[in-house]
Amino acid sequence: MAAKKLLVVNAGSSSLKFKLFGLEPFAPTMSGMFDRIGDKANCVLKASAPSPDGAAKPRKWEIKMQAANHVEAMTGMLGFFREQYDKAFSSQVMAVGHRIVHGMDISQPVLLNTDVMAKIKAAAVLAPLHNPPGLQGIEAAQRVFQGVPQVAVFDTAFHQTMPPHAYMYALPYDLYEKHKIRRYGFHGTSHKYLAEQAAVMLNKPVGQTNVITCHLGSGSSIAAIKGGHCVDTTMGMTPLEGLMMGTRCGDLDPAVVLHIQNQMGLSTKDTDTLLNKKSGLLGVCGHNDLRAVIEGAQGGKPRDALGLAMFVYRVQKYIGAYTAALGGHVDAVVFSAGIGENSSIIRQLILAPLKGVGLSVDRAANDATVDGKQGEISDSGSKTKILVIPTDEELSIATQTLEVVRGETAMANEPAAAA
Ligand code: AMP
Repeated sequence: MAAKKLLVVNAGSSSLKFKLFGLEPFAPTMSGMFDRIGDKANCVLKASAPSPDGAAKPRKWEIKMQAANHVEAMTGMLGFFREQYDKAFSSQVMAVGHRIVHGMDISQPVLLNTDVMAKIKAAAVLAPLHNPPGLQGIEAAQRVFQGVPQVAVFDTAFHQTMPPHAYMYALPYDLYEKHKIRRYGFHGTSHKYLAEQAAVMLNKPVGQTNVITCHLGSGSSIAAIKGGHCVDTTMGMTPLEGLMMGTRCGDLDPAVVLHIQNQMGLSTKDTDTLLNKKSGLLGVCGHNDLRAVIEGAQGGKPRDALGLAMFVYRVQKYIGAYTAALGGHVDAVVFSAGIGENSSIIRQLILAPLKGVGLSVDRAANDATVDGKQGEISDSGSKTKILVIPTDEELSIATQTLEVVRGETAMANEPAAAA
Protein backbone atom coordinates (compact mmCIF):
# COMPACT_ATOMS: atom_id res chain seq x y z
CA MET A 1 0.00 0.00 0.00
CA ALA A 2 1.25 3.51 -0.84
CA ALA A 3 2.58 5.63 2.05
CA LYS A 4 0.11 7.92 3.82
CA LYS A 5 0.40 11.69 3.38
CA LEU A 6 -0.75 14.77 5.25
CA LEU A 7 -1.73 17.90 3.35
CA VAL A 8 -1.39 21.44 4.76
CA VAL A 9 -3.44 24.13 3.03
CA ASN A 10 -3.23 27.92 3.39
CA ALA A 11 -5.94 29.62 1.32
CA GLY A 12 -5.77 33.32 0.44
CA SER A 13 -8.30 35.32 -1.57
CA SER A 14 -6.72 34.34 -4.91
CA SER A 15 -4.13 31.80 -3.87
CA LEU A 16 -3.91 28.32 -2.41
CA LYS A 17 -0.59 27.39 -0.82
CA PHE A 18 0.03 23.74 -0.02
CA LYS A 19 2.64 21.50 1.56
CA LEU A 20 2.49 17.74 1.48
CA PHE A 21 4.13 15.71 4.27
CA GLY A 22 5.08 12.05 4.26
CA LEU A 23 4.56 10.32 7.61
CA GLU A 24 7.45 7.85 7.70
CA PRO A 25 9.65 9.74 8.04
CA PHE A 26 7.57 12.79 8.99
CA ALA A 27 8.96 15.23 6.42
CA PRO A 28 7.77 17.49 3.60
CA THR A 29 7.64 15.80 0.21
CA MET A 30 6.31 18.63 -1.93
CA SER A 31 5.24 22.27 -1.58
CA GLY A 32 3.74 24.83 -3.87
CA MET A 33 0.88 27.14 -4.62
CA PHE A 34 -1.94 27.91 -6.97
CA ASP A 35 -1.63 31.58 -7.78
CA ARG A 36 -4.09 34.04 -9.34
CA ILE A 37 -7.17 31.87 -8.88
CA GLY A 38 -10.00 33.37 -10.94
CA ASP A 39 -7.63 35.06 -13.42
CA LYS A 40 -8.03 32.88 -16.53
CA ALA A 41 -5.00 34.19 -18.37
CA ASN A 42 -2.48 33.99 -15.55
CA CYS A 43 -3.63 31.22 -13.21
CA VAL A 44 -0.66 28.97 -12.50
CA LEU A 45 0.34 26.01 -10.31
CA LYS A 46 3.92 26.13 -9.03
CA ALA A 47 5.47 23.33 -7.04
CA SER A 48 8.82 22.06 -5.90
CA ALA A 49 10.03 18.83 -4.31
CA PRO A 50 13.36 17.52 -3.07
CA SER A 51 15.15 15.67 -5.83
CA PRO A 52 14.40 11.90 -5.57
CA ASP A 53 18.10 11.02 -6.03
CA GLY A 54 19.11 13.34 -3.16
CA ALA A 55 20.74 15.93 -5.45
CA ALA A 56 20.93 19.47 -4.06
CA LYS A 57 18.75 20.89 -6.85
CA PRO A 58 15.01 20.44 -6.15
CA ARG A 59 12.53 19.37 -8.84
CA LYS A 60 10.35 22.29 -9.94
CA TRP A 61 7.06 22.60 -11.83
CA GLU A 62 5.24 25.62 -13.23
CA ILE A 63 2.01 24.64 -14.96
CA LYS A 64 -0.60 26.96 -16.45
CA MET A 65 -3.90 25.61 -15.18
CA GLN A 66 -7.19 27.47 -15.15
CA ALA A 67 -9.13 27.59 -11.90
CA ALA A 68 -12.17 29.83 -11.55
CA ASN A 69 -12.39 29.22 -7.79
CA HIS A 70 -10.81 27.34 -4.88
CA VAL A 71 -12.68 24.07 -5.65
CA GLU A 72 -11.25 24.04 -9.18
CA ALA A 73 -7.78 24.88 -7.84
CA MET A 74 -8.01 22.03 -5.30
CA THR A 75 -9.20 19.65 -8.04
CA GLY A 76 -6.28 20.74 -10.26
CA MET A 77 -3.89 20.22 -7.37
CA LEU A 78 -5.25 16.70 -6.79
CA GLY A 79 -4.83 15.92 -10.51
CA PHE A 80 -1.23 17.11 -10.28
CA PHE A 81 -0.56 14.91 -7.21
CA ARG A 82 -2.09 11.92 -9.02
CA GLU A 83 0.29 12.45 -11.93
CA GLN A 84 3.27 12.73 -9.59
CA TYR A 85 2.33 9.94 -7.16
CA ASP A 86 -0.40 7.55 -8.27
CA LYS A 87 -3.95 7.54 -9.55
CA ALA A 88 -5.42 6.65 -6.17
CA PHE A 89 -3.65 9.55 -4.52
CA SER A 90 -6.67 10.96 -2.62
CA SER A 91 -6.92 7.74 -0.59
CA GLN A 92 -3.32 8.31 0.59
CA VAL A 93 -4.24 11.61 2.26
CA MET A 94 -4.96 10.79 5.91
CA ALA A 95 -5.76 14.38 6.96
CA VAL A 96 -5.86 17.96 5.72
CA GLY A 97 -4.67 20.77 8.02
CA HIS A 98 -5.93 24.28 7.30
CA ARG A 99 -4.29 27.51 8.43
CA ILE A 100 -7.11 29.76 9.63
CA VAL A 101 -6.22 33.28 10.70
CA HIS A 102 -8.91 34.12 13.27
CA GLY A 103 -10.45 31.62 15.67
CA MET A 104 -11.69 34.14 18.27
CA ASP A 105 -11.60 32.24 21.60
CA ILE A 106 -10.68 28.80 20.18
CA SER A 107 -7.46 27.85 21.92
CA GLN A 108 -6.56 24.56 20.23
CA PRO A 109 -6.40 23.06 16.76
CA VAL A 110 -9.76 21.37 16.16
CA LEU A 111 -11.33 18.77 13.94
CA LEU A 112 -13.69 20.62 11.62
CA ASN A 113 -17.39 20.16 12.19
CA THR A 114 -20.39 22.41 11.65
CA ASP A 115 -19.92 24.18 15.02
CA VAL A 116 -16.31 25.05 14.22
CA MET A 117 -17.26 26.20 10.71
CA ALA A 118 -19.88 28.49 12.26
CA LYS A 119 -17.26 29.93 14.64
CA ILE A 120 -14.86 30.61 11.75
CA LYS A 121 -17.70 32.35 9.90
CA ALA A 122 -18.53 34.44 12.98
CA ALA A 123 -14.85 35.39 13.38
CA ALA A 124 -14.83 36.75 9.81
CA VAL A 125 -16.24 40.00 11.27
CA LEU A 126 -12.81 40.48 12.86
CA ALA A 127 -10.78 39.10 9.92
CA PRO A 128 -12.78 40.00 6.79
CA LEU A 129 -9.80 39.59 4.45
CA HIS A 130 -8.56 36.27 5.84
CA ASN A 131 -11.31 34.04 7.22
CA PRO A 132 -13.59 33.95 4.11
CA PRO A 133 -10.80 32.54 1.85
CA GLY A 134 -9.89 30.15 4.67
CA LEU A 135 -13.46 28.86 4.63
CA GLN A 136 -13.32 28.54 0.83
CA GLY A 137 -10.18 26.42 1.22
CA ILE A 138 -11.95 24.17 3.75
CA GLU A 139 -15.05 23.79 1.59
CA ALA A 140 -12.91 22.97 -1.46
CA ALA A 141 -10.90 20.34 0.47
CA GLN A 142 -14.08 18.79 1.90
CA ARG A 143 -15.41 18.34 -1.63
CA VAL A 144 -12.20 17.11 -3.19
CA PHE A 145 -10.94 14.95 -0.30
CA GLN A 146 -14.27 13.48 0.80
CA GLY A 147 -14.28 11.58 4.09
CA VAL A 148 -10.75 12.75 4.98
CA PRO A 149 -10.48 14.40 8.46
CA GLN A 150 -10.01 18.16 8.15
CA VAL A 151 -8.37 20.13 10.95
CA ALA A 152 -8.30 23.90 11.49
CA VAL A 153 -5.17 25.40 13.06
CA PHE A 154 -5.66 29.01 14.13
CA ASP A 155 -3.13 31.87 14.09
CA THR A 156 -4.84 33.23 17.19
CA ALA A 157 -5.01 30.01 19.24
CA PHE A 158 -1.53 30.07 20.80
CA HIS A 159 -2.21 33.53 22.25
CA GLN A 160 -5.37 32.46 24.08
CA THR A 161 -3.30 31.96 27.23
CA MET A 162 -2.76 35.73 27.51
CA PRO A 163 -4.17 36.97 30.82
CA PRO A 164 -7.09 39.45 30.71
CA HIS A 165 -4.88 42.38 31.75
CA ALA A 166 -2.85 41.78 28.55
CA TYR A 167 -5.71 41.09 26.14
CA MET A 168 -8.25 43.71 27.25
CA TYR A 169 -8.51 47.17 25.71
CA ALA A 170 -9.40 49.97 28.15
CA LEU A 171 -12.77 50.50 26.47
CA PRO A 172 -16.34 50.19 27.82
CA TYR A 173 -16.64 46.59 29.01
CA ASP A 174 -19.70 45.74 26.91
CA LEU A 175 -17.62 46.15 23.73
CA TYR A 176 -15.79 43.06 24.94
CA GLU A 177 -18.86 41.23 26.22
CA LYS A 178 -21.18 41.95 23.29
CA HIS A 179 -18.78 42.41 20.39
CA LYS A 180 -15.70 40.36 21.41
CA ILE A 181 -13.46 43.41 21.03
CA ARG A 182 -10.16 42.46 22.66
CA ARG A 183 -6.61 41.62 21.68
CA TYR A 184 -6.18 38.18 20.04
CA GLY A 185 -2.67 38.16 18.51
CA PHE A 186 -1.54 36.44 15.30
CA HIS A 187 1.40 34.42 13.87
CA GLY A 188 0.55 31.95 16.68
CA THR A 189 1.78 28.83 14.88
CA SER A 190 5.11 30.56 14.28
CA HIS A 191 5.54 31.76 17.89
CA LYS A 192 4.59 28.30 19.21
CA TYR A 193 7.09 26.62 16.88
CA LEU A 194 9.85 29.10 17.82
CA ALA A 195 9.27 28.62 21.57
CA GLU A 196 9.45 24.83 21.18
CA GLN A 197 12.57 24.97 19.00
CA ALA A 198 14.23 27.43 21.38
CA ALA A 199 13.66 25.02 24.28
CA VAL A 200 15.32 22.26 22.24
CA MET A 201 18.31 24.53 21.51
CA LEU A 202 18.53 25.54 25.18
CA ASN A 203 18.25 21.90 26.23
CA LYS A 204 15.43 22.72 28.68
CA PRO A 205 11.81 21.52 28.89
CA VAL A 206 9.59 24.05 27.14
CA GLY A 207 7.53 24.30 30.34
CA GLN A 208 10.54 25.78 32.13
CA THR A 209 11.64 28.11 29.34
CA ASN A 210 10.91 31.83 29.02
CA VAL A 211 11.45 33.37 25.60
CA ILE A 212 10.74 36.51 23.62
CA THR A 213 10.06 35.49 20.02
CA CYS A 214 10.49 38.13 17.29
CA HIS A 215 8.73 37.12 14.05
CA LEU A 216 9.98 39.90 11.76
CA GLY A 217 8.77 39.66 8.17
CA SER A 218 6.51 41.72 5.94
CA GLY A 219 4.05 41.27 8.81
CA SER A 220 5.83 41.41 12.17
CA SER A 221 4.96 40.51 15.74
CA ILE A 222 6.71 39.73 19.02
CA ALA A 223 5.47 37.43 21.78
CA ALA A 224 6.39 37.00 25.44
CA ILE A 225 6.24 33.27 26.22
CA LYS A 226 6.43 31.97 29.79
CA GLY A 227 6.91 28.23 30.22
CA GLY A 228 5.58 27.59 26.71
CA HIS A 229 2.47 29.78 27.19
CA CYS A 230 1.99 33.16 25.55
CA VAL A 231 1.53 35.95 28.10
CA ASP A 232 1.53 38.88 25.66
CA THR A 233 1.96 39.63 21.99
CA THR A 234 2.15 42.79 19.92
CA MET A 235 -0.70 42.26 17.44
CA GLY A 236 -4.19 42.94 18.71
CA MET A 237 -7.79 42.46 17.61
CA THR A 238 -6.34 42.51 14.08
CA PRO A 239 -2.76 42.23 12.77
CA LEU A 240 -2.54 46.05 12.58
CA GLU A 241 -1.37 46.66 16.15
CA GLY A 242 2.19 46.60 17.43
CA LEU A 243 5.38 46.82 15.39
CA MET A 244 5.93 48.93 12.31
CA MET A 245 5.53 46.56 9.32
CA GLY A 246 6.00 46.53 5.55
CA THR A 247 2.73 48.33 4.85
CA ARG A 248 0.94 48.38 8.26
CA CYS A 249 1.30 51.28 10.67
CA GLY A 250 1.41 49.30 13.93
CA ASP A 251 0.76 51.18 17.21
CA LEU A 252 -1.01 54.47 16.68
CA ASP A 253 -2.97 56.98 18.75
CA PRO A 254 -6.58 56.13 17.78
CA ALA A 255 -7.29 59.87 17.65
CA VAL A 256 -5.18 59.98 14.46
CA VAL A 257 -7.84 57.82 12.80
CA LEU A 258 -10.62 60.16 13.95
CA HIS A 259 -8.62 63.14 12.76
CA ILE A 260 -7.93 61.83 9.26
CA GLN A 261 -11.57 60.82 8.86
CA ASN A 262 -13.01 64.09 10.20
CA GLN A 263 -10.49 66.56 8.80
CA MET A 264 -9.56 64.83 5.55
CA GLY A 265 -12.91 63.16 4.84
CA LEU A 266 -11.50 59.66 4.41
CA SER A 267 -14.11 56.87 4.31
CA THR A 268 -13.81 53.79 6.56
CA LYS A 269 -12.64 51.74 3.56
CA ASP A 270 -10.02 54.32 2.53
CA THR A 271 -8.79 54.60 6.12
CA ASP A 272 -8.49 50.82 6.29
CA THR A 273 -6.42 50.83 3.07
CA LEU A 274 -4.27 53.69 4.35
CA LEU A 275 -3.48 51.97 7.68
CA ASN A 276 -3.04 48.42 6.34
CA LYS A 277 -1.63 48.89 2.85
CA LYS A 278 -0.05 52.34 2.57
CA SER A 279 1.63 52.83 5.93
CA GLY A 280 4.59 51.21 7.69
CA LEU A 281 7.89 51.21 5.80
CA LEU A 282 6.01 51.91 2.57
CA GLY A 283 4.37 55.00 4.03
CA VAL A 284 7.52 56.45 5.57
CA CYS A 285 10.18 55.36 3.05
CA GLY A 286 8.23 54.79 -0.18
CA HIS A 287 9.08 51.06 -0.34
CA ASN A 288 8.09 48.15 1.83
CA ASP A 289 11.05 45.82 1.38
CA LEU A 290 13.49 46.28 4.24
CA ARG A 291 16.42 45.44 1.95
CA ALA A 292 15.65 48.56 -0.12
CA VAL A 293 15.22 50.61 3.07
CA ILE A 294 18.63 49.50 4.40
CA GLU A 295 20.25 50.24 1.03
CA GLY A 296 18.65 53.70 0.94
CA ALA A 297 19.72 54.44 4.53
CA GLN A 298 23.28 53.35 3.74
CA GLY A 299 23.18 55.61 0.67
CA GLY A 300 22.23 58.59 2.83
CA LYS A 301 18.51 58.84 2.03
CA PRO A 302 16.94 60.53 5.10
CA ARG A 303 13.49 58.91 4.88
CA ASP A 304 15.00 55.45 4.60
CA ALA A 305 17.21 56.22 7.61
CA LEU A 306 14.13 57.39 9.52
CA GLY A 307 12.04 54.32 8.59
CA LEU A 308 14.90 52.01 9.57
CA ALA A 309 15.36 53.76 12.93
CA MET A 310 11.60 53.60 13.61
CA PHE A 311 11.44 49.88 12.77
CA VAL A 312 14.42 49.07 15.00
CA TYR A 313 13.24 51.27 17.90
CA ARG A 314 9.84 49.60 18.13
CA VAL A 315 11.38 46.14 18.27
CA GLN A 316 13.73 47.35 21.04
CA LYS A 317 10.81 48.86 22.98
CA TYR A 318 8.86 45.61 22.92
CA ILE A 319 11.89 43.50 23.89
CA GLY A 320 12.19 45.79 26.92
CA ALA A 321 8.48 45.62 27.68
CA TYR A 322 8.36 41.85 27.39
CA THR A 323 11.46 41.44 29.53
CA ALA A 324 9.38 43.17 32.21
CA ALA A 325 6.31 41.01 31.37
CA LEU A 326 8.49 37.94 32.03
CA GLY A 327 9.68 39.38 35.36
CA GLY A 328 13.20 39.87 34.00
CA HIS A 329 13.65 36.08 33.60
CA VAL A 330 14.31 35.63 29.89
CA ASP A 331 16.22 32.57 28.69
CA ALA A 332 16.41 33.66 25.06
CA VAL A 333 15.38 36.26 22.53
CA VAL A 334 14.60 34.56 19.21
CA PHE A 335 14.73 36.13 15.74
CA SER A 336 12.79 34.65 12.85
CA ALA A 337 10.90 35.20 9.53
CA GLY A 338 12.17 37.02 6.41
CA ILE A 339 13.87 39.89 8.24
CA GLY A 340 14.77 38.12 11.50
CA GLU A 341 16.32 35.13 9.72
CA ASN A 342 18.19 36.99 6.99
CA SER A 343 19.20 40.45 8.11
CA SER A 344 22.24 40.42 10.38
CA ILE A 345 22.30 44.22 9.98
CA ILE A 346 18.86 44.65 11.54
CA ARG A 347 19.67 42.21 14.36
CA GLN A 348 22.88 44.12 15.09
CA LEU A 349 21.04 47.48 15.08
CA ILE A 350 18.36 46.11 17.44
CA LEU A 351 20.73 44.33 19.80
CA ALA A 352 23.78 46.63 20.03
CA PRO A 353 22.16 49.11 22.47
CA LEU A 354 20.57 46.34 24.60
CA LYS A 355 23.66 45.20 26.53
CA GLY A 356 22.11 46.80 29.61
CA VAL A 357 19.17 44.37 29.39
CA GLY A 358 21.51 41.39 29.22
CA LEU A 359 21.78 40.95 25.45
CA SER A 360 25.26 40.83 23.98
CA VAL A 361 25.69 39.81 20.35
CA ASP A 362 28.62 37.91 18.81
CA ARG A 363 29.26 39.82 15.62
CA ALA A 364 30.84 37.00 13.64
CA ALA A 365 28.10 34.50 14.62
CA ASN A 366 25.46 37.11 13.77
CA ASP A 367 26.95 37.75 10.32
CA ALA A 368 27.22 34.01 9.63
CA THR A 369 23.68 33.08 10.70
CA VAL A 370 21.67 34.06 7.61
CA ASP A 371 19.92 32.36 4.67
CA GLY A 372 17.90 29.82 6.62
CA LYS A 373 20.64 28.89 9.10
CA GLN A 374 19.73 28.19 12.71
CA GLY A 375 22.08 29.10 15.54
CA GLU A 376 23.05 31.07 18.61
CA ILE A 377 24.36 34.59 17.97
CA SER A 378 24.98 35.75 21.56
CA ASP A 379 28.52 35.96 22.94
CA SER A 380 29.70 34.11 26.03
CA GLY A 381 29.09 37.18 28.23
CA SER A 382 25.42 37.53 27.26
CA LYS A 383 23.06 36.97 30.23
CA THR A 384 20.28 36.04 27.80
CA LYS A 385 20.87 33.81 24.79
CA ILE A 386 20.09 35.23 21.37
CA LEU A 387 18.91 32.65 18.84
CA VAL A 388 18.08 32.69 15.14
CA ILE A 389 15.50 30.06 14.23
CA PRO A 390 13.97 29.75 10.76
CA THR A 391 10.23 29.51 11.32
CA ASP A 392 8.21 26.68 9.79
CA GLU A 393 4.51 27.39 10.10
CA GLU A 394 3.51 24.52 7.78
CA LEU A 395 5.47 22.01 9.85
CA SER A 396 3.79 23.34 12.98
CA ILE A 397 0.35 23.05 11.32
CA ALA A 398 1.17 19.53 10.12
CA THR A 399 2.33 18.47 13.60
CA GLN A 400 -0.77 19.94 15.27
CA THR A 401 -3.05 18.35 12.63
CA LEU A 402 -1.48 14.97 13.26
CA GLU A 403 -1.95 15.37 17.03
CA VAL A 404 -5.64 16.13 16.57
CA VAL A 405 -6.20 13.24 14.17
CA ARG A 406 -4.38 10.83 16.46
CA GLY A 407 -6.43 12.12 19.37
CA GLU A 408 -3.44 13.47 21.25
CA THR A 409 -4.89 16.95 21.68
CA ALA A 410 -7.24 17.17 24.64
CA MET A 411 -10.86 17.52 23.59
CA ALA A 412 -9.86 17.86 19.95
CA ASN A 413 -13.40 17.40 18.73
CA GLU A 414 -14.82 20.17 20.84
CA PRO A 415 -14.15 23.89 20.43
CA ALA A 416 -12.10 24.78 23.49
CA ALA A 417 -13.53 26.90 26.28
CA ALA A 418 -12.83 30.63 26.32
CA ALA A 419 -9.62 31.73 28.02
P1 AMP B 1 8.33 37.17 5.19
O1 AMP B 1 7.04 37.94 5.26
O2 AMP B 1 8.66 36.46 6.46
O3 AMP B 1 8.45 36.30 3.98
O4 AMP B 1 9.47 38.28 5.04
C1 AMP B 1 9.57 39.03 3.85
C2 AMP B 1 10.38 40.27 4.11
O5 AMP B 1 11.69 39.93 4.61
C3 AMP B 1 10.67 41.05 2.84
O6 AMP B 1 9.67 41.98 2.59
C4 AMP B 1 11.97 41.76 3.16
O7 AMP B 1 11.68 43.04 3.65
C5 AMP B 1 12.58 40.98 4.31
N1 AMP B 1 13.89 40.42 3.98
C6 AMP B 1 14.20 39.26 3.36
N2 AMP B 1 15.53 39.11 3.27
C7 AMP B 1 16.10 40.18 3.84
C8 AMP B 1 17.44 40.64 4.07
N3 AMP B 1 18.49 39.92 3.69
N4 AMP B 1 17.61 41.83 4.67
C9 AMP B 1 16.56 42.57 5.08
N5 AMP B 1 15.29 42.20 4.91
C10 AMP B 1 15.05 41.03 4.29
